[in-house]
Amino acid sequence: MDKILIDKNFSSWIFDLDDTLYPHEENIFIQVKQKITEFISKNFNLNLRDADIERKRLYNSYGTSLRGLMTERNVNPRHFLEFVHDIDLTVVKENPKLNQVLKNIRGHKIIFTNGSFKHAEKVLERLGIKGNFSNIHSIETSNYIPKPSVEAYYSLIRKENIISKKSIMFEDTAWNLKTAKDLGMTTVLISPKNHLLENNKSDYIDYNITDLVKFLK
Ligand SMILES: [Mg+2]
Repeated sequence: MDKILIDKNFSSWIFDLDDTLYPHEENIFIQVKQKITEFISKNFNLNLRDADIERKRLYNSYGTSLRGLMTERNVNPRHFLEFVHDIDLTVVKENPKLNQVLKNIRGHKIIFTNGSFKHAEKVLERLGIKGNFSNIHSIETSNYIPKPSVEAYYSLIRKENIISKKSIMFEDTAWNLKTAKDLGMTTVLISPKNHLLENNKSDYIDYNITDLVKFLK
């Protein structure tokens, strides 16, 4: 059961984008992963299988494949982002319920994503929730340094004047919440439906939920 009790007086509400504001089941992010594999395959002459192994290795070592490609292969981040976010977003539908619960939150709401600014804008527009957010802190804004690196959080905190202890952060990637917790934020992990993992109840996760709208109500 999702725990519903939550202090509504947080001054900042920080939301990841992909697989957080739309359900994991919509498989959008799987398209991005496939595009990353394709990018690696094309640029470094690897077959798709080896390119996918390389994608995972870079992701696990650097937090994002992009960071790994920039560090090890000198890849231009703008070319990379343009290529990997060129995906079909038609399955992302307007979500008026989510829009309403977001509207009811008085604090300052921000997107904090390892994806590109353009991708975040497009997704928020499709969901019909863009007007709720005062800013999109994208991978470009944090100078291509991704979550869970603490520098990415410092960049967010500085730019958005965030007081960590008065902030709550929502994410589908558990390891990104570890840094948030270390900085004093309240943390919410969003798991796929029917997939609430017991082992995700780590000490740095305050709430483990499957339904964001229900939780925010
Ligand atoms: Mg995500």
